[in-house]
Amino acid sequence: MNKKMPDDCCANEAALLPHEEALQKLTCGLKPVEGVREIDAVDAAGAVLAKPIYAPRNIPAHNHSAVDGYGFRFADYDRETGSTLPVRGRAAAGSPLEGKVVPGSAIRIFTGASVPDGIDTVIMQEDTEQVECDGQIKIKLAAGLDKGANIRLAGEDVRAGATVLSAHRRLRPQDLGAIASTGISKITCYRPLNVAIFSTGDEVIRPGTPFQPGKVYDSNAAMLRALITAGGARCHDLGVLPDTPDMIREQLAKAAENHDILMTSGGVSVGELDHIPRILNELGSIHQWKVAIKPGKPVSFGQIGNCRFLGLPGNPVAAFLCFLLYAHPVITILSGETWRPPRRFALPALFSMNKKPGRREFLRGILKPDEAGRLQVAKFDRDGSGLISSLTKSDGFIELDEETTRVEAGEMVNFIPFSAFGLQI
Ligand code: AMP
Ligand code: MG
Repeated sequence: MNKKMPDDCCANEAALLPHEEALQKLTCGLKPVEGVREIDAVDAAGAVLAKPIYAPRNIPAHNHSAVDGYGFRFADYDRETGSTLPVRGRAAAGSPLEGKVVPGSAIRIFTGASVPDGIDTVIMQEDTEQVECDGQIKIKLAAGLDKGANIRLAGEDVRAGATVLSAHRRLRPQDLGAIASTGISKITCYRPLNVAIFSTGDEVIRPGTPFQPGKVYDSNAAMLRALITAGGARCHDLGVLPDTPDMIREQLAKAAENHDILMTSGGVSVGELDHIPRILNELGSIHQWKVAIKPGKPVSFGQIGNCRFLGLPGNPVAAFLCFLLYAHPVITILSGETWRPPRRFALPALFSMNKKPGRREFLRGILKPDEAGRLQVAKFDRDGSGLISSLTKSDGFIELDEETTRVEAGEMVNFIPFSAFGLQI
């Protein structure tokens, strides 16, 4: 088995690592997994595009009318007073004008109809009036139109040959609409990642089994599975690893053979029963970091053969945060998607507190509008990293950087909504 990490960007792991450095170490040198496939564009929501989409022709393909009304040549129109023109011919969406435009006349035209040569301006029917003039029915056009009014130009959305969508993006519903507008029906995407999750610990039991004293129900598996799936990967929940080295070794080695990522929660601190780091070292390689964040500290990253290993803390709040901060970027990059840091929004704090310098703190934040509806952020009143209910009551994390030692009420603080991590959560 491969005992070496892909590069040595993970050296120096003994000290407490600043958050940004941990992120850099985790993601440096990471490449998308091998394996792209051609899929039907209509089924591609959530897939990651592996090859860009170029416009094979102008979109829209023709100049066309944006309204129901009348088309005419601007040279036949008096912008100051308006004009009265006879109507000769008709163009509707999908049924272009038959024959040529008769000079000095207007045509009846409908939304989406191709604008024929000889017509350069369209007036809405609401701005016209039918009049009888010299024994003929004519159309009176209101004054004040500009040349080119109410015409959507060929290529005004996308020019022939331009990039409609770049590679490495996860496709959203509107992207599928844009692909469809090119007429393309098959696209090349990365295959979904296969992520195996294990919970760990002799005390951890699965919901649905009878409660036993001293045990704790497994929160992490349900949460991680939903997070992984929300990120577009396939999650295989492989159960709970007991605190027994032989069983851990056997199950991790087996799972590494057919998954892209193995993810564990718990069992990576330096406690006596935390065997996973030692076993990972035997099977492949592992880097264990105490990251200078609160909550969360122990995070580990390793490799068994071609399979990546991510070890998250056991406490559910820390597992959730560390997933979003560290596992999600790794999954994103291996999935072929470009990873971008989550957007932070500066909001006034509704709390004051002292903070230890030297570590980054992530408080659970609750959005509260003031009387004018402007958002402010309160902090969940308790800090424990085992308080799973704090996550259900929060809207995101408040991030206090390493240098901060005090927050005063009213001061602007960085708020990261859960949705800013790029997952539907
Ligand atoms: P550990 O990192 O294994 O020492 O776990 C830290 C704490 O998280 C302990 O209180 C564990 O019981 C708890 N814990 C670990 N795994 C889970 C889990 N899957 N669900 C809920 N709590 C857990
Ligand atoms: Mg444990």
